[in-house]
Formats: sequence, structure tokens, C-alpha cells
Amino acid sequence: MKWLLLLLVAVAVIHWLGRAKKAAVGAAGGRRPAPQVESMLQCAQCGVHFPASEAVTVGDRVYCSDAHSRLHAPR
Ligand SMILES: [Zn+2]
Repeated sequence: MKWLLLLLVAVAVIHWLGRAKKAAVGAAGGRRPAPQVESMLQCAQCGVHFPASEAVTVGDRVYCSDAHSRLHAPR
């Protein structure tokens, strides 16, 4: 009887460990990727900081918008 109880506990623990592992894998797979840190640049015209992906580059200067690039450095 003692061995049967021990076997039952062992089966329960193995079952529980299997479920916990599956849950951990599911949580890791469903996790959203961490937001990427984008470098910030400063507009040469107005001095505002903005993401590098929105930069308007004229020569070696960067601007927050096309309008500011025209204002500061007329073509
Ligand atoms: Zn600007």
C-alpha cells in the first residue's frame, strides 16, 4: 500500500512538471518582443528631438520635417 501511494505521488509530480514546462514554453513563445530603442536626433532648425527614422537629412544636418529642412537650408 505504501508503494502504491508513493507511485501515485510520483506520477502526479511528473504530470505536474510536464504541465509547468508546457506552460513556460507557451508563455515564452507568446511574449511580445521588447520594443526597440531608436536613437533620437535634434532638428537643426527648431531643436526638437525626434526619432532617427523620421529624420530629413540635408548634407550633414538633420531636420524634423521637410519644411524645416527648406527653412533652414533653402535649396
Ligand atoms: Zn524642426
